Amino acid sequence: MGPALLRSDVGSAAIEVDVSPGRSLTQRARNAVASRLTEHGGKQVAFAPSGGLPSRDVWTVADLRDAAALHRATSSTDDRVAVYVMVVDGVFDHPDTPAPDPGVVGVAFQASAFALFADEIPSGGLLVSRGEYEEAVAVHELGHLFGLVNLTGHGAFHEDADHEGHSRNDGSVMYWALEFAGPLQELFEGGPPSTFDADDRTEMEAIRGSV
Ligand SMILES: [Zn+2]
Repeated sequence: MGPALLRSDVGSAAIEVDVSPGRSLTQRARNAVASRLTEHGGKQVAFAPSGGLPSRDVWTVADLRDAAALHRATSSTDDRVAVYVMVVDGVFDHPDTPAPDPGVVGVAFQASAFALFADEIPSGGLLVSRGEYEEAVAVHELGHLFGLVNLTGHGAFHEDADHEGHSRNDGSVMYWALEFAGPLQELFEGGPPSTFDADDRTEMEAIRGSV
């Protein structure tokens, strides 16, 4: 998926946002995902109609995949990539941990799909809005769909040895802590980063050039 999302010879992208009852994605986060696809992938972006998702207390990767298989209406073609965003209630249950993981705010679980855990995203405060957190998390997960960090073998030079798949730079949106509610609030007092740094861009260039 990485190269197709990043290469402008695949000229358009469709974003589908499906939501659990009562959940939504801010316009700010929608705009951020669309603009990064345009900026880094050369895409004309359109939003597909939104659909509904079930409500669950706990979501495993298998649950996310099952719901995507049932509810996703868009798929990629030769000249259009489809990006699927699930905005769900409940908490994530990571396959490597024995119990559910409160505090996880997002996960990329398929080549063209990611989930945001709406109830886990900080609700914002005086200085940082909920929309800013949502934007950062959504762009982070999109970055994983791009292939960052080192998911396609092009980013070892800036991968955090202690946090696989993530940047060692806390000024990059691909920093590991972007996926966890606690650090999201404590580490990023002026608001979490929502843009890709120079190393991320260098890696994207390598992914773009790969087949
Ligand atoms: Zn991540």
